[in-house]
Amino acid sequence: MDSTTAVKRSLKPRDLLRAVLRPLLDIGLPPLCPACREPVRDSGGLCAACWSRLNFITRPYCERLGIPFVHDPGPGILSMQAIADPPAYGRARAAVRFDDVARALVHALKYGDRLDLAPMLGRWMADAGRELLGDAEALVPVPLHWRRLWARRFNQSAALATAISTASRLPVTMALKRIRVTPQQVGLSKPARAQNVQGAFRVAAARSSEIAGRRLVIVDDVLTSGATVEACARALLRAGAARADVLVFARVVEGARAPI
Ligand SMILES: [Zn+2]
Repeated sequence: MDSTTAVKRSLKPRDLLRAVLRPLLDIGLPPLCPACREPVRDSGGLCAACWSRLNFITRPYCERLGIPFVHDPGPGILSMQAIADPPAYGRARAAVRFDDVARALVHALKYGDRLDLAPMLGRWMADAGRELLGDAEALVPVPLHWRRLWARRFNQSAALATAISTASRLPVTMALKRIRVTPQQVGLSKPARAQNVQGAFRVAAARSSEIAGRRLVIVDDVLTSGATVEACARALLRAGAARADVLVFARVVEGARAPI
């Protein structure tokens, strides 16, 4: 049982009932906060408590990796991580820290069929990635393998990319393919994550013109070790992309160290 099935099976009966009846009963039921499931006034919006607990990522952060600094080292400074182990991608930005509220939103989008959350999350991402988007020519969602796509019915990264496309007017290209099924990254160490996704992505030969020479922004829901977007960036650069930046909804933050 993969984690998708596990989450689906752990849905509370109340949630299942709502999922089934929502289209019929939307008028009668009060909308719920997508993170804590308490009733809220406006459909799709967060309750005040969850909103106040969301941690938007703002400067000062590492200009390369987008990891927030605890202390402001001054403009344009890179983190130790970016200097010691620079990624294949150019710059990474995230809207929020991956904490409880962000995790609940990602799970609702991914496993709870709450595609209606994508426009809100996409707007926050477009704000966080304003500089990257202003420099880019197309958005590239991290692809699912067709078998996983078939099981889940939609790709949450593509849904986010579509929302960002509305805000930024950049086109979305689906030229990047996942060519093998990779086990879920959850629970793997950083080296194991890199190993897991190595060679998993390739640009479809027939669509290489959408990638070659282009400045691209890779879009994903969560950045943990960065192994997945790193593998995507390598595949895009191998296919001739001029640049591959990264924009995610939430990232795991362990704290960046500024060089001394
Ligand atoms: Zn809430």
